[in-house]
Amino acid sequence: MAKVVRGLLTLGNGKVGQSIHLFSLPALLSCPGRSPSCTEACYARKSRYLLPAVVERLRWNYDQTLDPAFAARMIREIRKKGCLAVRIHGAGDLYSADYVNAWVRIASACPAARFYGYTRSHAVPEILPALCGLAGLKNVRLWFSCDRDIPVPETVPEGVRVCYLQTEEQEAIPKADLVFRVKRYRRQRLPLTVVCPSDSPGKREVVCGSCQRCIK
Ligand code: SF4
Repeated sequence: MAKVVRGLLTLGNGKVGQSIHLFSLPALLSCPGRSPSCTEACYARKSRYLLPAVVERLRWNYDQTLDPAFAARMIREIRKKGCLAVRIHGAGDLYSADYVNAWVRIASACPAARFYGYTRSHAVPEILPALCGLAGLKNVRLWFSCDRDIPVPETVPEGVRVCYLQTEEQEAIPKADLVFRVKRYRRQRLPLTVVCPSDSPGKREVVCGSCQRCIK
């Protein structure tokens, strides 16, 4: 019987749309920069992420990142599939400097693809320099995620943009390039220029593939 080779990437979901490839990891296990508020709000610890098939898949993905050939395998797959946009993690985070550097190799070897992702690992001093290297690549759009426990950094490295997760109704939202909101506050009106359209009232049908704000 022919051996079935499982791909590393999946194509599309309800948030990003159907034109973006994703790679995901288990939440918490891969999140050294997590904060109490993002841990509490994390969508990747709820609902479909609790299904055994999803738990198994994300754990398998994590194990693949420990393979020294991970970057080479990902590069081959991106080229073979002709990916134009890759979201680095629909769930999970850049858990170590070595793992960030694997993505530096991948993005450098795939200039035709645009890579984007959000990370709280900027709160981990040993990972921050590698993140700056990743953010400096022309085809990478890296977002530093902040919340009421992780303040917006005073100095934002070149190539990085900042997003903020609102988890409290009345919290003061600091200056950020983009605001995400937990579900229960998505009906609240804030200026549309800063809120992710899919977290805004009446805009739930917007997906990343059509919006593109985080990818451009
Ligand atoms: S702002 Fe646009 S691209 Fe960014 S997460 Fe929201 S829908 Fe996606």
